Amino acid sequence: MPAIKEIEVVHVSLPTRREHKWTGLTEPIGGYILVRLTGDNGIVGWGEAPALKDWGGDYGRYFGESPGTTKFIVENYLAPTVVGCEVGNIADLHQRMDAIVKGYPYAKAAVDIAAYDLAGRTLGVPVWKLLGGRVRDRIPVTHSIGLLEIEEAVEECKKVVDEGIKTIKIKVGVDPTRDVEIVERVRMVVGDNIDLCVDANCGYATPRDAVRVIRKMEQFGLKYAEQPVEGIDRISEVTRVLETPVMADESAWFPRDVLEIFEKKAADIVSIYTTKPGGLYGAMEVASVACAAKFLCNVNGSVETGVGNLANIHLAAAASPVKLSCVVPVSMPAESQNGNVGGIYYIDDLIKEPFTLAEGCIDVPEGKGFGIEVDEDKIERYRDTTLR
Ligand SMILES: [Mg+2]
Repeated sequence: MPAIKEIEVVHVSLPTRREHKWTGLTEPIGGYILVRLTGDNGIVGWGEAPALKDWGGDYGRYFGESPGTTKFIVENYLAPTVVGCEVGNIADLHQRMDAIVKGYPYAKAAVDIAAYDLAGRTLGVPVWKLLGGRVRDRIPVTHSIGLLEIEEAVEECKKVVDEGIKTIKIKVGVDPTRDVEIVERVRMVVGDNIDLCVDANCGYATPRDAVRVIRKMEQFGLKYAEQPVEGIDRISEVTRVLETPVMADESAWFPRDVLEIFEKKAADIVSIYTTKPGGLYGAMEVASVACAAKFLCNVNGSVETGVGNLANIHLAAAASPVKLSCVVPVSMPAESQNGNVGGIYYIDDLIKEPFTLAEGCIDVPEGKGFGIEVDEDKIERYRDTTLR
């Protein structure tokens, strides 16, 4: 087998369709780090870290990574140790990365994702095959409504439902009156056949506050309430008394977190990322623990570009407990966009072909690696040199 020969790190800033915010977010989405891995066979694989300095788990236990942090760690610590690693030996790749520096899961995820793409392209198989096969070939998309004004949110919900989206997630955790009103108004406009979820991103000050607000929302029908408060012990207080299922997101990064959530009966649903556990390799371990604990899961993320979203789709296809609609954006290069907005957060993207969306579901690509080519001209166009 060939070996990894070279690593390049690129910081990009992709232009957004509209501002997309959630509680605690301090910068625009889309300013992320890409990793380009080249094998000594000349084949290239791409990975992404949607690095956010304000996203670091409960009480910041895993720290945030800015694009500058991620770039520094990949270039100075991970790159020297993974050069020479056999293509496809993902276990060895992680041993090397974990031995050289503790933590930095986003930096490691970008390298891991690129390594899977490179392995799939070298072996001529899709990445979902390297993850053990797939249990689904279409991924239902949840459209995420950021912290928008209510009128704007209602208009967007109407539009995405007309486009075939079946699940909508509304960001809340700001003001109880506003949060209840937005759920009521969205329910009125989308009707009873659409699943609605709310995500507070730890925004409610206390479990009691969260329970009071979510109980008022329940009359409008909630599929689940995501991360109402910060902390596994505190989220468990909400889960214990609500009828609505509760999802752990900020509280669930690594397999160990999922074990703790299980032991403390802190949530009903666990949100899996390709990035929180340091890549697809760790994400499949999270899925295994969630499977043993009988948790339902979705795949969720940080509004990645097409590169990261391809990894999200392959994970959602392969991980058996992912039975819920996924918050995976529908990545579309500008040339393919037609005015639709369901699952679309950027006005352009970094991949050559658009995702195919039918009846609110993304088709899982069949080609080798992640199955869609990266557009290196677009990477150059959106290269950001103001690294922080
Ligand atoms: Mg969330």
